[in-house]
Amino acid sequence: MLTETDASARAERVSNCRYELALNLTKGAPTYGGAVTITFDQDGDDDLMLNFRGKRIDLLELNGTAVDFEWRGRELTLPCAALAASNTLRIEYENEYDHGGDGIHQFVDPEDGEEYLYTNFEPFDAHRLFPCFDQPDIKARYQLTVTAPSEWTLTANSQEVSAETLGDGRTRRVYAETPPFSTYLFALIAGPYHVAMAEHNGIPLGLLCRKSMAQYLDTDELFTITRQGLDFFGEFFDYPYAFGKYDQIFVPEFNHGAMENVGAVTFNESMVYRDPPTENQRRRRAEVILHEMAHMWFGNLVTMKWWNDLWLNESFATYMSYLAMEGATRFQSGWQDFNNGIKNWAYRQDQLITTHPIAGTVRDTDETFLNFDGITYGKGASVLKQLVATIGIDGFREGMRHYFRTYDYGNASLHDFLGALEEGSGRDLGEWSRLWLETSSLNTIRADWESDGERVTRLELSQTAPVDYPTIRPHTLETGLLTDDGATTAIEAVPAVLEGESTEIEAARGQPRPALVYPNFNDHAYAKIALDDESVAWARENIERVGDDLLRQQLWSTLWSMVRDQQLKSTDFLAIVREKIGFEQNIELVDSVLGHAASSQSRYVPAERRDAEAHLLFETAREGLLAASENDTRIIWGRALVGLAVNPDDLAYVGRLADGEELIAGFELDQDMRWGVAARHVAFGLPGAAERVATEAERDPSDRGQRAQLRCETAVPDAGVKADAWERFNGEGYGSRYLNQAAMSGFNWTHQADLLAPYVDAFFDQVGGIFVERDREFATVFYGGLFPSYRVEQDTLDRAQALLDETPEEQAVLQRMLREAIDDLGRAIACREFAAS
Ligand SMILES: [Zn+2]
Repeated sequence: MLTETDASARAERVSNCRYELALNLTKGAPTYGGAVTITFDQDGDDDLMLNFRGKRIDLLELNGTAVDFEWRGRELTLPCAALAASNTLRIEYENEYDHGGDGIHQFVDPEDGEEYLYTNFEPFDAHRLFPCFDQPDIKARYQLTVTAPSEWTLTANSQEVSAETLGDGRTRRVYAETPPFSTYLFALIAGPYHVAMAEHNGIPLGLLCRKSMAQYLDTDELFTITRQGLDFFGEFFDYPYAFGKYDQIFVPEFNHGAMENVGAVTFNESMVYRDPPTENQRRRRAEVILHEMAHMWFGNLVTMKWWNDLWLNESFATYMSYLAMEGATRFQSGWQDFNNGIKNWAYRQDQLITTHPIAGTVRDTDETFLNFDGITYGKGASVLKQLVATIGIDGFREGMRHYFRTYDYGNASLHDFLGALEEGSGRDLGEWSRLWLETSSLNTIRADWESDGERVTRLELSQTAPVDYPTIRPHTLETGLLTDDGATTAIEAVPAVLEGESTEIEAARGQPRPALVYPNFNDHAYAKIALDDESVAWARENIERVGDDLLRQQLWSTLWSMVRDQQLKSTDFLAIVREKIGFEQNIELVDSVLGHAASSQSRYVPAERRDAEAHLLFETAREGLLAASENDTRIIWGRALVGLAVNPDDLAYVGRLADGEELIAGFELDQDMRWGVAARHVAFGLPGAAERVATEAERDPSDRGQRAQLRCETAVPDAGVKADAWERFNGEGYGSRYLNQAAMSGFNWTHQADLLAPYVDAFFDQVGGIFVERDREFATVFYGGLFPSYRVEQDTLDRAQALLDETPEEQAVLQRMLREAIDDLGRAIACREFAAS
């Protein structure tokens, strides 16, 4: 790891850095060779440290002479005596490929045996590929040469300028020297990738994926969004795309959604659709494409100095992607998606015991991702949205233009960002920053109103804060007054600024008496909304009659939030869903409401009601599927149907659908659903389950099929199978992180609680050791896959608490995961008790 103190001292000392990197790749090899020549200036009189995690150093020469260096762990130290003001450092080395998704990941496609490589370095892994000053504020130029099999496709940060075929079936390719950028944004992707090329305003565009996925790559749509995004951002920032070409590569076993490497963005392969996707999936993918593209400006052109400002990088890209989606693409319900995805994630995280301020300190690179959650991404982006509502979009745009002009190719901090916005908007943001970025938790806003029967006589907005986090903040928002004449509804939006604990909204006086008042119409504010009783009663009865999609989304979210706060019984919420969901035309809403319903059924319904509620929801899904007239709705209902099958009749029914013995016009289970049916049949011990798995494996021999098979393998309700799987989790494992995750995902099933009883003790006994002995990637997968969260019981909570009590301070990741699990279990237990009362 690298501490902020060391990094900041090194950035003061080192400048004018340039890397000339030559890599030597051979097909099927466990290792690769590298040679790097680093030129840099420095002005210190201590030893100087570089970062490097490699297998072997064959040569190290500083300024033409071999020197005595020290290499411990990831630190490679040069003696001060050998350093000059300007230096040339030459290192030749050998290194192993990585298999956890970070560093340089090597993957072999089980379908055709082809080998694929890609790099992933954020925050601190570039030095797994080559020795470097691995920190964001020592930017450098890179000149890359790669010798690799001739039939491979290679993608780097810049364009290829020459290629020379060698005698051994390999080609040496040379890439253009890059503009300056940070080490974590360096990239190399290599292997027999399939390529599609296009061009936009002189910018070459590439799309790459594995050969076996090429048939699913929908290039037209991907190129269209790419073009729309490049135009939108170039214009909005008044600064053209700075890095020459733009490649987007879909890579296997990727640990995240995507990564914004300069000119070579890597994406999780789940965004190449093997099964027909819904429009919701396409919109979410467009959001990711635009998010990564926004980073080319914010993050890549201007980069944070240190990882404490990573939240700003991510929040900004998240906010900008929705702005671009609405402003430049065919996806026009972006802000509804923002409310459902980003904001609800933030609200949930901000109410956990682990909540923290948006802006904080990051002492070292290990801490970078510790607080990287719904607060940093989701709340940060929501707060930016509120900021734009406050200072106006024009001031925001002007500020950003100033920012890129001032800091391009350099580094900047939160302070610089706010300074640029103050410049653009002419407003002082010091107090705003303190109240929103440096405090935790959120306010609850409510509207209280009176009428004379016909007209509103008084409407007051007020806010409260939790006892532990008593901050009251300014909110710029609109209050929606919904009127209902029995046949139609209409909404009047009244702009308001809520400062202090309460404000009377004078503009509301004289408005027709509303049936419902929603204090955060158009969703500018980041706050919980408490509806008045009359509005709740109206929403429960009439939610489908609200014409505005975003408001309907917000009302459903409010009802869901009331379930989580034990103000509405989970069983009552499920009854509302069953009654109203059939009226819903907006597929995103169908999707999100079904998601809340499924969570409600699995977590918040009393144990003895769970199966009955699952069956009722299954019936709702079946009716929805039978009535559906569009493919998207069929897919959404079909997925729900498979996930809700727990009773024998329902399981048999989805089995018959998979086998074609039961037919629904216009609907066919896709391969993912078929795997879902197979896993459930195995887990519930249905006859013929093993044959079903074998049939699916034949239909789907891909890496996805391989993972689905592993999930089925550990799902078998048999003590011997569970014992073997547990031993393997704790021993040799199943291979890559993806394969381990797949195998672990089949292990725990609620209905197998008796069979799984021994593994509750085993989990709590062993997980602490796993976090000490294994790397973080494996440990978090182990925890996520095997924590017995299906046991919503005080006993599970007590065990988690006991383990937390004995977990040492330095196990920050485990501590955090346990705290959140305790919080989540406590809430689920309370919701079940409330529903049973
Ligand atoms: Zn990002």
